[in-house]
Amino acid sequence: MIEPIVSFHDVHKSFGDVKVLKGIDLDIRPAEKVAIIGPSGSGKTTIIRMLMTLEEPTSGDIIVNGTNLWKMEKKGKLVRANEKHLRAVRGDIGMVFQHFNLFPHMTILENCMTAPLHVKKEGKEAVKQRSLEMLERVGLSDKVYQYPSQLSGGQKQRVAMARALVMRPKIMLFDEVTSALDPELVAEVLQVIRDIAKNDDMAMILVTHEMDFALDIADKVLFLDEGVIAEQGTAREVIEHSNNERLQEFLHRFR
Ligand code: ADP
Repeated sequence: MIEPIVSFHDVHKSFGDVKVLKGIDLDIRPAEKVAIIGPSGSGKTTIIRMLMTLEEPTSGDIIVNGTNLWKMEKKGKLVRANEKHLRAVRGDIGMVFQHFNLFPHMTILENCMTAPLHVKKEGKEAVKQRSLEMLERVGLSDKVYQYPSQLSGGQKQRVAMARALVMRPKIMLFDEVTSALDPELVAEVLQVIRDIAKNDDMAMILVTHEMDFALDIADKVLFLDEGVIAEQGTAREVIEHSNNERLQEFLHRFR
């Protein structure tokens, strides 16, 4: 049996008195493509932020590629993995956000090269070659010496993807990457993600409101509702054949 690359065991999260996640159990296998859908405020981004180690659970275990990020000890004390382990975990994870966060004073190529050069301390020539390769994959070979301000939103988002891919992550997180884009730019970004999903063997977790896209690429879909996974299964089971009323109501808004 293949070990999961991401596991959540009974993860709870509260902000003050507000219970945002109420017992999340989740296993994601290497190469698995998982879409998380659900209403605004249901806790989707909180799950992503926990994986990035930006947020700690109130209770429960989160294990990424064999490292327990936080562990409940006896007496309910939460213990965080040491910095060395957390750095390794962050290195395994690539992330693309709603807002692209490119460095405005760097060219497209420099944006892709900076993390492998300065965080991973890799050699310049190899990093440059890999960056050019990834920029070609996202269809931006003709833009490598331009600056972010010269690009459309869709192109900037494709740079953000190339930049994440250059780090060769084992897990890619996509958090509503098309939500901030003008409608006519959404398709080109989804197409790049489709290509990555079909050709790469990394795990992918995508928070999305694009149901046809989820149907097309996701092995598994989770419907998050009020802090619990209210429904899960194959994309077809969840998006096309579920009888869950809350899910039906949600889908009506997006399809
Ligand atoms: P989603 O991504 O599904 O829209 P989020 O995970 O962003 O949901 O948020 C879930 C809930 O947690 C929301 O009610 C939000 O207001 C609350 N929340 C998220 N982050 C914080 C925070 N840092 N402090 C207080 N409340 C927060």
